[in-house]
Amino acid sequence: MDELTFEGVSSRFDKEEVCAEFLFDAKWPDGFRCPRCNHSHAYIISTRRIPLYECAACRAQTSLIKGTVMEGSRTPLRLWFQAIFLHARPAGINALQLSRIIGVTYKTAWLICHKIRHTMSEADVQEMLSGLVRISDAVYSSRYSPFFDWHNQEQPLIIGASENKDRELIHIKIKKQCKKQQRSVFASFDTAPFIRDFVDTNAVIKTVVTRRIGKRVNRTLMRICEEAERWLAWTFRGIGPKHLQVYLDHYCYIWNRRKKSMFNLLLRDCSLIPVITYPQLTKLPVARSARLARNSGLISQTAS
Ligand SMILES: [Zn+2]
Repeated sequence: MDELTFEGVSSRFDKEEVCAEFLFDAKWPDGFRCPRCNHSHAYIISTRRIPLYECAACRAQTSLIKGTVMEGSRTPLRLWFQAIFLHARPAGINALQLSRIIGVTYKTAWLICHKIRHTMSEADVQEMLSGLVRISDAVYSSRYSPFFDWHNQEQPLIIGASENKDRELIHIKIKKQCKKQQRSVFASFDTAPFIRDFVDTNAVIKTVVTRRIGKRVNRTLMRICEEAERWLAWTFRGIGPKHLQVYLDHYCYIWNRRKKSMFNLLLRDCSLIPVITYPQLTKLPVARSARLARNSGLISQTAS
């Protein structure tokens, strides 16, 4: 677990050159490699804020921030590193808090937050649930009405968790489901798309609970979803359905790395996973919703 402080990280990465050195090592751990021809020697063009590397063989120029969360940003690297540290804390951070702490405008802070969160989502996609996996459904946002239909604020979720041999949960994923495919709040969920998309084919799926009401409810998994909801309410004052998935991914990213050196892991992911552009960012929820709608089917079996 990290025992770093904001002050410690700020003084460790206090200059652009120090941050650039870190990015170089993350990008090329065995020394420079030209992305075009794989040549190992480059000339450094240091007239820019962030050095450019020009391949000695093919003359292709590569920026250190190309292919990172910082690509295309004019915000100093040291502020990015501070923002990454603040996102790696269990408490999380919202855009308003970030803008005040690192001294950028709210709009810049909002973009930084979304880009870092996108990195977390992408990192999550690369890790499937494996080993012994348990799955349950849950609902985001407390029940607003006693009716069978979904309330606007309610969002159906599926949570999956990998267990180790001591029956401890070590890796979770929480994915929003398509409400339109879900007949009512009491209908069973179709877990097949979740298993197909997020569970390793060699995993042993021990329990699949597709009912929230009754004796078979997996209270541990439901409790994690409730904790996620409380965390979202506390840090972000609640999240609407449009962006809910990336915030759930943020929660799972932190949960899955809570016993590890989270800042170093997130910094590394931010250095290796390409940034999302603003047009992609604003279109993303629609694309995700479409994918979820495609993936979510209503199973014919009714709850018994
Ligand atoms: Zn080259």
